[in-house]
Amino acid sequence: MSRDKPGLATRIVHADRHFGVEHNAIRKPIHNSVQYSFDKVEDLIGVFQGTVKNAFNYSRTGTPTTAALEAKLTQLEEGVGSVCYASGMGAISATLLTMLKAGDQLISGRYVFAGTNSLFGTMRDLGIEVAMVDTCNAANVEAALKPNTRMVFVETIANPGTEVPDLGAIGELCARHGILFVIDNTITSPALFLPRRVKAGLSINSLSKTISGHGVALGGVVTDTGVFDWQTHPNISHDYRKGDPRLWGLQQLRKKGLRDMGASLSSDSASQIGIGAETLALRIKQSSSNAMALAKFLQGHPAVKRVNYPGLESHPQYALAREHFSAASWLLSFEFKDLPEMLPAMNRLQIASRATGMGDTRTLVIPVAPSIYYEAGPEARALMNVTDGLVRVSVGIEEVDDLLDDFDQALRG
Ligand SMILES: *Cc1c(COP(=O)(O)O)cnc(C)c1O
Repeated sequence: MSRDKPGLATRIVHADRHFGVEHNAIRKPIHNSVQYSFDKVEDLIGVFQGTVKNAFNYSRTGTPTTAALEAKLTQLEEGVGSVCYASGMGAISATLLTMLKAGDQLISGRYVFAGTNSLFGTMRDLGIEVAMVDTCNAANVEAALKPNTRMVFVETIANPGTEVPDLGAIGELCARHGILFVIDNTITSPALFLPRRVKAGLSINSLSKTISGHGVALGGVVTDTGVFDWQTHPNISHDYRKGDPRLWGLQQLRKKGLRDMGASLSSDSASQIGIGAETLALRIKQSSSNAMALAKFLQGHPAVKRVNYPGLESHPQYALAREHFSAASWLLSFEFKDLPEMLPAMNRLQIASRATGMGDTRTLVIPVAPSIYYEAGPEARALMNVTDGLVRVSVGIEEVDDLLDDFDQALRG
């Protein structure tokens, strides 16, 4: 068998070897120093002037531990570089605020994470137009294009409805018009999908979900995939239009997005996330195959009205998901036929936890309308296809028969 590089699971586990690890420690240590000192003052000056490479001057813009995680994530995304932030929302807000200006238009998918949706309100207040369209059909994106369109933003699989955008066609459209295409890859992660394959210039991942995988650290990352020509983007500041144009976007994301905005990832969290990421490929194989089995079980169940999972042939974007993702992920949702049955059935679950959050080793369930979409109100819920009987399931890595038995007994009553 001839392969051009080792497989994903191998590359993640051995990523730490590609740069020096101190004192032969097999894993990158946790560097908690905020300050950095130098024997010669010329070197201290050189760090600020960019002539001394791979050095740090203050931990708000990075530490050796966060840099090691960035290198690992860049490998996973097959990109040219990454910048980590304190959370997924830190990464998204830094991207939108550094890459867009007043008077620009942003086109986004209609089905986006609630925090992102709320952030769009802030962007509007700052003078940025936001058009939210159904991105499952690229023609809707094309129809919304204007001369001031500077970015198209989509999520790979929407939470909780599991809608999938027409990624390939949107990527072609953006490439044709020289528009920055940004993909929030959180639900799929680079283990299931590489945004660079559909010409996205930036890939964003919340590290709090499946990449760290154990729900013990918040984090976020923006990876430059290397496919976007920053020379065509008018919003790169004069200060960062220097040197290799492939690095202009990353410079702006680190300087403006991290140094100025300050949502910096701690070394402690970076270490936890890096350790969790070592098993990403294994966990996502198990959680995705569990999700497929659970989706099939629920689809045939008399208590269930509808199941949303892109791995089911009945899903409207089944073909798109098959084309782009190596599995349909660990996220599904389903609707109860009889609303009064929902809460008692959820209370009967013994293995799945009634909990917020997603992308954990454990299976987590939540009734969507009265919790995470309560504040949004009935109109916004209707627009997002969030019905009163909808339950979101973030499927974990438990043994599949135990999960199916648990849902079977809970639904039977
Ligand atoms: C959770 C999530 C975010 C936000 O990430 P945090 O780390 O919680 O800030 C953004 N996008 C998607 C798709 C998410 O699921």
